[in-house]
Amino acid sequence: MTKYFLFLSAFIFSAFIGFSHAESATNRFYILGNAVQGNMLYGKVTPGSKVIVGDKKVQVSSKGDFVFGIPRDAKGTLKVKVTFPSGITDTRPLLIQAKKWQIQALNDLPQKHVNPPAEELQKIKIQAADVKNARGLNTKTSSVPGCFMQPVKGIVSSVFGSQRILNGEPKNPHLGIDIAAKTGTEVKASAAGTVSYAEPDNYYNGQMVIIDHGYGISSSYSHMSKINVTVGQKVKKGEVIGLVGSTGRSTGPHLHWGVSWLNTPINPQNVLKVSAKRCSSGKQKRVTKNQ
Ligand SMILES: [Zn+2]
Repeated sequence: MTKYFLFLSAFIFSAFIGFSHAESATNRFYILGNAVQGNMLYGKVTPGSKVIVGDKKVQVSSKGDFVFGIPRDAKGTLKVKVTFPSGITDTRPLLIQAKKWQIQALNDLPQKHVNPPAEELQKIKIQAADVKNARGLNTKTSSVPGCFMQPVKGIVSSVFGSQRILNGEPKNPHLGIDIAAKTGTEVKASAAGTVSYAEPDNYYNGQMVIIDHGYGISSSYSHMSKINVTVGQKVKKGEVIGLVGSTGRSTGPHLHWGVSWLNTPINPQNVLKVSAKRCSSGKQKRVTKNQ
């Protein structure tokens, strides 16, 4: 029965990507997702294995699950190295596929939000360090983050990765998605986790919350008109954490939703897609197991 189940789960995981996989059931190593710039990928290895992605040591759950992301500007290959409990290693070089990014020009921004005044630089620096700490958490919880949901219903008005030209000046790319919604619309936690940052006056992001989902994955919610949670608070998926607004660097009411893996911003729309695929494969497995 166990053998049959392992074979089945191997089939389900490899079916998504057509990936090569370890030959024996004792040294399992599968990856779910596509190695495209900005994407999130799940991995499954024999429980007790150690995993290094690039130069980052990742957390592996007691069931052998882990998760990682591909940076927006990554090129070449990304190596995923697994050391099985037996001491045997298996390294997969993932060939990173480039993505064509959009170019977005915004011309109605107050100049202070394009080139901040000198007296604000210290505050911006401190806030950036706090955000970096919150996004760098590598917490191990009982399981890797499950199916994500879009935190606000609405039209995506700006996608991940766009090269930005603000008031005519080339600036950093857009590292989340913007969802247009009315001021006061409820913002919901995209997955379960613990609030790691809640700042009512972030210079660029306005009223901002970050949730740590464990395994290096965090999500952020910016420009809100109200924050309903405090740092350290545990939240369930779908729980209301604040309200849509237009605080910080914003030209109108919307939610800027970001997802990061160990401070690497990844594409929230891909996170929705790949996490849904993984969840549906989990359901298939459970159904089959019960039969
Ligand atoms: Zn945005």
